Amino acid sequence: MFKSLLARLGAASRVAIPDDLWLTTVTNLPYVAALDDIDQSRLRTLSEKLLAEKEMSAAGGLELDSPMQVLIAVQACLPILNLGIDWYRGWSSIVVYPSEFLVPREITDDSGVVHEYTEPISGEAWDGGPLIVSWEDIQGTTPDAAWSYNVVIHEFTHKLDMLNGAPDGVPPFDRELHPTIDPNEWRTALHDAFERLNAEIDLIIEEMPTDIDPDSTAADAHYAHLPLDPYAGQDEGEFFAVSSEQFFVNPVRLQQAFPDWYAQLSLFFQQDPLARGRG
Ligand SMILES: [Zn+2]
Repeated sequence: MFKSLLARLGAASRVAIPDDLWLTTVTNLPYVAALDDIDQSRLRTLSEKLLAEKEMSAAGGLELDSPMQVLIAVQACLPILNLGIDWYRGWSSIVVYPSEFLVPREITDDSGVVHEYTEPISGEAWDGGPLIVSWEDIQGTTPDAAWSYNVVIHEFTHKLDMLNGAPDGVPPFDRELHPTIDPNEWRTALHDAFERLNAEIDLIIEEMPTDIDPDSTAADAHYAHLPLDPYAGQDEGEFFAVSSEQFFVNPVRLQQAFPDWYAQLSLFFQQDPLARGRG
């Protein structure tokens, strides 16, 4: 579908993103605009490769045009800017829904009874399968929000985490790219930050007025001073994905709250977003 929208280059190892579309896209993403010219040009090449390699399709009646596809590709490629397109191997399709979509779920309770239900979600990455995102959520970054929400970076970093099995916050480390990462130090930094966030969440819930449901939107303001969206407290896989959103988009609070974890992320992604624009 996308391939008919933009001219293909050579043997389709890349899809050309027109200059004006590239400029508009970057200008609207301050955390991408902060990259120097060389990195921006590398990001563009990677985005063109991603668009050629992955099949991007719309679902639920959405019309997917080239600006939308480029916006998704640019955000998707930021985490692999210094890793390479090969880190998104093993799966081939990106599906974009107009808004949150319903996913069938199944849980077995303690007495062995299976409950089937549907859950509305804004994105999902299936192991070996497609990556699904909601267009409404891609656009849904509110500047005054406590955390910078980025469903594209979230789902794509789950894909990195899934390269070595179920998402657990520990992606594979490459001997050449990551000689200084010690997996034990990674696990310790991840675990400590995760536990500290959950301790803070527990404290907030304890102090919350009893008429407020801690899982409702009425509770949101109570979590606002947390360094990360409380969703990161679900498990270490979510902690890695939510941390990655902040790492790339709005890293200050993440680095202040969890400097060791920020340092590990910086080693893994081979980027230091806090140092951008200082040169
Ligand atoms: Zn997630």
